[in-house]
Amino acid sequence: MNVPLLDLKAQFRPIKDEVMKAVEAVFESQQFINGPQVKELEKQIAAYTTCKSAIGVSSGTDALLCALMAFDIGHGDEVITTPFTFFATAGCVWRTGAKPVFVDIDPKTYNIDVAKIEKAITKKTKAIIPVHLFGQMADMDPIMEIARKHNLFVIEDACQSIGSTYKGRQTGSIGTVGCFSFFPSKNLGTAGDGGIITAQDPVLGEKLEIMRGHGSKPKYFHQVVGGNFRLDTIHAAILIVKLKYLNSWSEGRRKNAAKYNSLLKDVKQVVTPFIEKHNISIFNQYVIRVPKRDELRKFLTHKGIGTEIYYPLSLHEQTCFKALGHKRGDFPESEKAADETAALPIYPELSDEQIKYVADSIKEFYNK
Ligand SMILES: *Cc1c(COP(=O)(O)O)cnc(C)c1O
Repeated sequence: MNVPLLDLKAQFRPIKDEVMKAVEAVFESQQFINGPQVKELEKQIAAYTTCKSAIGVSSGTDALLCALMAFDIGHGDEVITTPFTFFATAGCVWRTGAKPVFVDIDPKTYNIDVAKIEKAITKKTKAIIPVHLFGQMADMDPIMEIARKHNLFVIEDACQSIGSTYKGRQTGSIGTVGCFSFFPSKNLGTAGDGGIITAQDPVLGEKLEIMRGHGSKPKYFHQVVGGNFRLDTIHAAILIVKLKYLNSWSEGRRKNAAKYNSLLKDVKQVVTPFIEKHNISIFNQYVIRVPKRDELRKFLTHKGIGTEIYYPLSLHEQTCFKALGHKRGDFPESEKAADETAALPIYPELSDEQIKYVADSIKEFYNK
C-alpha cells in the first residue's frame, strides 16, 4: 500500500471543473492584479474569521512582514516568538532589523509556553508572535493580557490554523492581526503562493492595505515605504471556490485524527497529539512524539508511508541566527520536540484502510 504524506490530487479531482472555470474567468477578464475576486475573497475571509478587515497578500511570509512593517517595527526593537515554528516567523522579524527573542514551548501542545513570556519582555519589546502550530491555537487569553499590560502588538501566526478556534473564538480574530498562508499544503491552499492578514481595527486594515501596495496613497504618492505584497486575482478566484469546502476538509482531518488516536491508544511508545479542551484543531499536521523517531521514519518509508519532521532544527540553532548567541540547551523543550516528533499523513481523503495500515505499521515497528 502507498500512503503519501499529502495527496493534493485527491482534493483537486472532485473540484477541478469549478476551479478551472474560476481560473478561466480571470483570464477572460485579464484583470490579473486587484481584480474583483480579491475584494470578494477578503470579504469572505473577514466573515469566516469574524474580523472587520482582511487584506490579501502574496504569502504567509509577506503577511507577517507586512504586519511588522505596518507596526513600524525595526532596528532596536525586539519581538517575542517561539523557536519551534517554520522559519518565516522569526525570519520576518530579522528582515525588519528587529531582534527575534525566543521563548520555549509547552511540550504538550508545542505552542509557546505563556508562563515564560513575561521574563523575556524588555523595554525594547514591541510585539509577540504566537504561532498556532499544527492547527491548534496558542493560549491566547494570557498572551493578550500580557500584551495589554506591556502595550505590545500581538501578531497571530495563523498560517497553519485557519478555521481553528480557542474558547469558541476564531483563529486570527483575537490578536492585533492574524497572518494566514494559502501555500498549497495548508488546509486552504491555492495554486502557488498567497496569504491574507486579518484585523479587527478597520483603520489598521487600511494601513495594511496601503503597506501591501508600496505604501502608496493616493497612487504614486508615498507616505510610508511598503512593498509589493499583493495577492494575485487568480489565487483569490481559486480560493473563493475552495473556501466553501474548507470546513468539511478540516472535519475530515479531525475524524482521521480521532481514528489514529484510537488505533494508537495502546501503543505505549507513541504520544498522540494533545488538544486542549477549549481548542478545536484543524489538524494541519498530525504529529506524534516517539522514541527512535528516525528509525521509525525509515521503516515507514520502506512501507510506502510518507512522514515529515516539522521542524528538525529549532530556530535558535539555525546558522543564520548565530549572532543571537544561542546554544544547544537554551530552549530544551523545543530541541526535544525537534528530535522526537514526526508528522503522519492526515489529509481528509485518506481511506480507513490507509489509516489502519499506518497505525499497524507503527505497531509492527515497536513490536519487532
Ligand atoms: C507556512 C507557514 C508560514 C509561511 O507561509 P508561506 O505562505 O509559505 O510564506 C509562516 N508561518 C508558519 C507557522 C507556517 O506554517
